[in-house]
Amino acid sequence: MELVPGLRRIGNDIIAAHLIVDDAGITLVDAGLAGHWNDLQRELTEIGRRTADIKAVILTHGDSDHIGFAERLRRDAGVPVFVHPADAARARGEESTKPAWGGMKIGPILRFLAYSIRKGGLRTEHLSDVRVVADGETLALPGSPEIIALPGHSPGSIAVHVPSVSALFVGDGMTTGHVLTGQRGPQPAPFTDDQAAAAASLARLESRLGGDWSGWVIPGHGAPWRGTMVDLLGAYRAARPA
Ligand SMILES: [Zn+2]
Repeated sequence: MELVPGLRRIGNDIIAAHLIVDDAGITLVDAGLAGHWNDLQRELTEIGRRTADIKAVILTHGDSDHIGFAERLRRDAGVPVFVHPADAARARGEESTKPAWGGMKIGPILRFLAYSIRKGGLRTEHLSDVRVVADGETLALPGSPEIIALPGHSPGSIAVHVPSVSALFVGDGMTTGHVLTGQRGPQPAPFTDDQAAAAASLARLESRLGGDWSGWVIPGHGAPWRGTMVDLLGAYRAARPA
C-alpha cells in the first residue's frame, strides 16, 4: 500500500517492510518474513514494476523477522543486500541472539507468533553474502538513502533517512506497536540487546537531523508515526520504561 507517493509498505503493523520507488527503480528497506515474498510480488504488480527494478535491500538490522526474502532476491535476482558490519554475522545466521522478552500480554504475543508463522517465520533463509554500509554513508540508490548508526537493539542497527519521501526508517531502534504488550505509540522496542544504548542512539538522531526535523518515522513493528524529532523523543521518553 502507498503511504505517500514514492513510499509503499508491505506487511502490517505487526511486521512491515518498505519500498522506496522512483524513476530509477526501487530500494527496499528490510525484507520482512519469507512469506512476504508474495506480498512483494503483488505490490510490484500493482505499481507496474518488476523484481528486476529492485536495486537493493537495506537491512535496518540482522534479525530474522527483517531478512525474510532478502536472500531469495539476492540469489535469484542478484539484488545486493546491505547491512551494517556489526550485524552481518547475525544476517548470515552465524550468531544466534538470545533476546530478553520482558513484560508481555498473551493476546499481542499470540497475534505476533501467529502472523510470524503464517508468513514463514519458521523457515528464515539467512544471507550467504552481504554488502556493508557505514554510518554517514549516502547510497547511490533510489531515494538516496542516508545511513545513520543506531546501535542498541543490536550492535549493527541503523536508521535509514530518505529525504525525498521525508521518512526515517528506524527498524527496531524503537517501536510504535509493542508486539508483546500491544502498547501503541513511540516506545522502547522489545528483544533489545542494550536499551540504554538504544535510547542514546535515538537522542543522537536529534543532533544529526535537528529537533525540528519532521516526517514519517517508520519502525519495523507498529504503525508509521508522523511528527517532529522533538515530539518523537518526548513520546519515547514518556513511555520509558514500557
Ligand atoms: Zn524485529
